[in-house]
Amino acid sequence: MSSTVGKVIRCKAAVAWEAGKPLVIEEVEVAPPQAMEVRVKIIVTALCHTDVYFWEAKGQTPVFPRIFGHEAAGIVESVGEGVTELKPGDHVLPVFTGECKECRHCKSEESNMCDLLRINTDRGVMLHDGKSRFSINGKPIYHFVGTSTFSEYSVIHVGCLAKINPAAPMDKVCLLSCGISTGLGATLNVAKPPKGSTVAIFGLGAVGLAAAEGARIAGASRIIGVDLNPKRFDEAKKFGVTEFVNPKDHHKPVQEVLAEMTDGGVDRSVECTGSINAMISAFECVHDGWGVAVLVGVPNKDDAFKTHPMNFLNEKTLKGTFFGNYKPRTDLPNVVEMYMRKELELEKFITHEVCLSEINKAFDYMLKGESLRCIIRMDG
Ligand code: NAD
Ligand code: ZN
Repeated sequence: MSSTVGKVIRCKAAVAWEAGKPLVIEEVEVAPPQAMEVRVKIIVTALCHTDVYFWEAKGQTPVFPRIFGHEAAGIVESVGEGVTELKPGDHVLPVFTGECKECRHCKSEESNMCDLLRINTDRGVMLHDGKSRFSINGKPIYHFVGTSTFSEYSVIHVGCLAKINPAAPMDKVCLLSCGISTGLGATLNVAKPPKGSTVAIFGLGAVGLAAAEGARIAGASRIIGVDLNPKRFDEAKKFGVTEFVNPKDHHKPVQEVLAEMTDGGVDRSVECTGSINAMISAFECVHDGWGVAVLVGVPNKDDAFKTHPMNFLNEKTLKGTFFGNYKPRTDLPNVVEMYMRKELELEKFITHEVCLSEINKAFDYMLKGESLRCIIRMDG
């Protein structure tokens, strides 16, 4: 048994002291895991837009000082009371939304929206006792979405940890704990394009390109990428996107452009932008009779979706998804296996790599729109 079990661990973490200010590498104290909690040694983490969004804290409740980070992979160091599914040494992916396996959602085959462990961006403490497990000289440092992976060690609820194949390279499969699974699942689990179909992807960021990867895996014959930023098109070619449409290049609505390109509409569309206009276009561009549109992007607070109800009567279907409809503990280990069987490529999503001490560079790359995913290695 490791000598750290039951003791406070002192380690390095990137602490966000204030909204929008560079993170500071600090020595933090990480308390032992309490009931149903697990202390994880984080090996590698990546930066996702959601971290940046809540770090900027424009319009959301600011919770500071805080340790961000939620896309990661690590190894179990110790477990708290009542944890039977994980043991020290197990390889895990932390997930920002959990699966308690007991609530109505977890028991339903149709839902992944766990009542107990569903994402909560305002909470900065553990469920068990309403306290933080991180501190500096006795002052609490808050958690982020139950994961806080920008720390060499983190304490996470067992329901937010997927146990994965120990042979899986953590610096690749860490991407599956958020954005890539979201886009992939939006296509494979929700849009479900039949083989040979035409799929439009709105937004060619990491999530949209993962949705394109899903379309490729499903055997779509045409994958049409729609983005306002032409710089995204070069990268997208590596992801099997076969055609590109920039709405800015056309005088008519993009749904009309797509309908002309596809003899009446695409079979499936997946929206990964967060723009309400793109959401409406993504719905209206599907073919009547069978077309299905899936919304993934997170809209602005005051947005409203407006379309003519005749579109529904004409048998166009509109759906939305949370985390690609994957149940974190049940399904993620299988997505890791898809990567291990080489059915899914992850390497092409990794555009940058830094070590923990350079974490602010990862923020710069993302803010400048230069990176799809920047990997942050914890040893260094
Ligand atoms: P990103 O910013 O890297 O990519 C978004 C892309 O959309 C950009 O390339 C941008 O140019 C493009 N875009 C913006 N407006 C557009 C428009 N009107 N038409 C066409 N293209 C447009 O973001 P990302 O990390 O790939 O995430 C995409 C979205 O998915 C975000 O809204 C994010 O919040 C959301 N998301 C949802 C879930 C979920 O569970 N539903 C999970 C993770 C992320
Ligand atoms: Zn549940």
